[in-house]
Amino acid sequence: MKKAKELMDKLSYSRKSFWKEASEQERKAALDFSEGYKTFLDAAKTERETINFYEKQLAERGYANIDADAKGKKIYRLSRGKNAAIAIIGKRPISEGVNLIVSHVDAPRVDLKQNPLIEDGSTNLGIMKTHYYGGIKKYQWMSTPIAIHGVFVKRNGEVVEVSIGEDPTDPVFVMPDILPHLARKVQSPKKIGEAIAADNMKLIFNSMPYLAEEGEDVKNAVKLNALYLLNEKYGVTEADFLSAELQLVPAGKARDCGIDRSFVLAYGQDDRICAYTSAEALYAIEEKDFDKTAIVYMADKEEIGSESNTGAKSNFIIDFIADLLKQNNENNDSNTLRKTLIKSQILSADVNAGINPNYPSIHEKENAVHMGFGVAIAKFTGSGGKGGSNDANAEFNAKIFNIFDEENIFWQIGALGKVDEGGGGTIAKFMAEYGAEVIDCGPGILGMHSLYELASKADIYSAYRAYKAFFLKG
Ligand code: MN
Ligand code: MN
Repeated sequence: MKKAKELMDKLSYSRKSFWKEASEQERKAALDFSEGYKTFLDAAKTERETINFYEKQLAERGYANIDADAKGKKIYRLSRGKNAAIAIIGKRPISEGVNLIVSHVDAPRVDLKQNPLIEDGSTNLGIMKTHYYGGIKKYQWMSTPIAIHGVFVKRNGEVVEVSIGEDPTDPVFVMPDILPHLARKVQSPKKIGEAIAADNMKLIFNSMPYLAEEGEDVKNAVKLNALYLLNEKYGVTEADFLSAELQLVPAGKARDCGIDRSFVLAYGQDDRICAYTSAEALYAIEEKDFDKTAIVYMADKEEIGSESNTGAKSNFIIDFIADLLKQNNENNDSNTLRKTLIKSQILSADVNAGINPNYPSIHEKENAVHMGFGVAIAKFTGSGGKGGSNDANAEFNAKIFNIFDEENIFWQIGALGKVDEGGGGTIAKFMAEYGAEVIDCGPGILGMHSLYELASKADIYSAYRAYKAFFLKG
């Protein structure tokens, strides 16, 4: 008879702690990796800023725009300043299938309304009306410093970029909550999801009036002063708000978290964490030898259902692959393109929910994501009886796990929560419609969709290593 411990090690499965089991070199690499990540997060607080970040970086790294009749192996395409596809051509024909990693670069936020500015009748303050985007808990956004990011697009097409509230010398903004003393009737008895109405989320913009000439009677002088200051700084008028995209995000930078600095705390890590780690994985294979064309796809609008011409339901990525076929002198008729997609493999790189020590009951420990135990792989997402989900095939699961094991990558399986606890979807199911093999793969997060999401540096680094291994061996 064998010893029970030996037998247990041989026959049973348990996830491994990165911080406990990784080599000292790896632990250091994980901490170092997050330095660049934090810099990226600070530069990329909206989808537009993310794509701007990559536009600059791709040019510096010698990637060529496919729409400029590009030659070579390193190719990209951007679309409408909100999504990107970046490829390195492999040794095998593209028509044998590509290895693609898709993430999304939009994040839950609060947008300004199209006609936002009023002088509030009851307070004589200049305020901006808002309309939230994606799944937020509204109460989190009250009484916290807010920055405004986005663009005005003037009638002549001129784009005026706006970012107020990030530089330490900038002012910030706020949507003030009410004091507990007077919340007893209008707020405290309500359910948490109803305590703050969308209409309560008005942003304080200014309070000084435009000072009129003596004898001149100016109505709405506070609003006028807001417009005056905006015109001075950006050259815009109130009508330019009608063609603007202005987004409110939490002001401030990504920070280390924990006395051991093992976490990153920052806004918008869902899902820029996967955009960054997949792009870094692609850069890391530039000089390597690999078979299948590797593609990083950064989509927009995931938080509102992947709709629109910049979301994953659009034809953007299909058109890009068709154009890659053509650029490499392969057939790109519809049949070849469809066969290419069917032979392709896709990691739907999105975040998962880590077990939260404040609410362990919503998770099921054996199947949930543990922070610091590596990148998480979700066979399916959805809700209820796996409704609305891609359900990755066991054969593809095994193939991916094998690659990760061979490369000593810290990974774990991860279901979003207990069965029937709730649910959510990712881009995976839209990608699966092309016939490709698709599986969800990304780091766990605590406080997902909150102002400050928490990620483990172990998991960020493990995601990067997993994506790199997928490109090289998938
Ligand atoms: Mn996401
Ligand atoms: Mn999300």
